[in-house]
Amino acid sequence: MTLVQQLASSTATTIHNAAHAAVTAVEVGSTVHDFVTVTGQPAKPVPTGSVTVDWFLNGTCAGTAAASSSTLGPLDASGRLDATGFAFTVNSAGQRGFIAHYLGDATYAASDGSCETLTVVDANIQLTPPTGTNPAGTDHVLTCHVNVNDSTGSVSAPAGTACTGSIQNGPGSFVGSNQCTTVGTTGDCQLTITSSVTGTTTISASTDVVVGGLTLRRQTGDIHAGDSANATKDWTPTTTTQLAALLTAVTGVGPGTSLADKVTQIQAYVAANDPSNACKALNDFLNQVKAQAGKKQITSAQAASFTAQAQAVKTTLGC
Ligand SMILES: [Zn+2]
Repeated sequence: MTLVQQLASSTATTIHNAAHAAVTAVEVGSTVHDFVTVTGQPAKPVPTGSVTVDWFLNGTCAGTAAASSSTLGPLDASGRLDATGFAFTVNSAGQRGFIAHYLGDATYAASDGSCETLTVVDANIQLTPPTGTNPAGTDHVLTCHVNVNDSTGSVSAPAGTACTGSIQNGPGSFVGSNQCTTVGTTGDCQLTITSSVTGTTTISASTDVVVGGLTLRRQTGDIHAGDSANATKDWTPTTTTQLAALLTAVTGVGPGTSLADKVTQIQAYVAANDPSNACKALNDFLNQVKAQAGKKQITSAQAASFTAQAQAVKTTLGC
């Protein structure tokens, strides 16, 4: 028997993402595996055989591995192995680690790689208030908030992080820019929308925020954990639009112009910012409708419609 002195080997690892690009930081939801390279001595055979890989839920490979691979191999003709069968999807921000072990062959002794640290980053975005009701023609302010997590904990995004609003559905437009940048350490900035017509508007917000050197795209209404839903806004009729519609409805209806005259009077009080007299005039209008219906000067259907419209104006005015 001849005692063979094995040569020293060295083991190095690179973390790959699913596309086999070398990475040291990834965003939440990525899937990673280890790429192992075992190097021998100059002018000697390339190392052969197998490796094992350990996976840690910390960045220093401290303590017991969260998972250890079975024996993986053989190494290719260049002493490498892409451990795609030992892959992990990272679902939370924080640090992880891979470490590889070469098991040795007839020529080379076993060797351990060093701990390869993976940084997992995350971000999220919210748009508030989630719902709201405003009279058409008024401004409504939405707050966009962005959080980032560089693996050490979730904090508000740095000052100047851009948030871009977009109307996904419904009427309206942004007042000024549809983009704002977060202020100070708040992670907040404001977007303003308005609509001249009634309806429901769905608004989204998105950001491309840099965390740990990676640009993360986040958008409300997507499936990413932590992102809020899109915001919705109901634009209700204004007294102006309600009264214009009522005037059209009563013009030429009933004896003379008394109904139309009363609506015109209400419009004048509203225009003069005199809700008290506008409310009184609305009651006069309702009494007139009742009187004309009693005398069959207008139909009961007309009376019901005019009454409902006038009541809606009273609600808008706060009578
Ligand atoms: Zn790979």
